[in-house]
Amino acid sequence: MSAFAVCRTAVSEITARSVFWSLHVDNRPGDRASDCGGLMEPVRLDRPRGKGLAVVHVCIVCGHESRNRLAGDDPIQPDSWEAVARVQERATRFRR
Ligand SMILES: [Zn+2]
Repeated sequence: MSAFAVCRTAVSEITARSVFWSLHVDNRPGDRASDCGGLMEPVRLDRPRGKGLAVVHVCIVCGHESRNRLAGDDPIQPDSWEAVARVQERATRFRR
């Protein structure tokens, strides 16, 4: 693989991953009750029963796990399916 291809792959991976990074501010979705503030890493996809696809995040500081439903059908700001695919691809490669 050329240096250009390696670089392009790295940039697209960072871009795709950063789409779903967030901060640990909630204990339950939306409650803003946590004062951890650690980075929440997107680690894999999940399909909660009857709720469509969700991205599973794990806090890199305390290990708290949360799920955020994907909004691929949001007409204003849909989640990128390419980024979703990359989360899944990475989860397969670095399975925990
Ligand atoms: Zn945390």
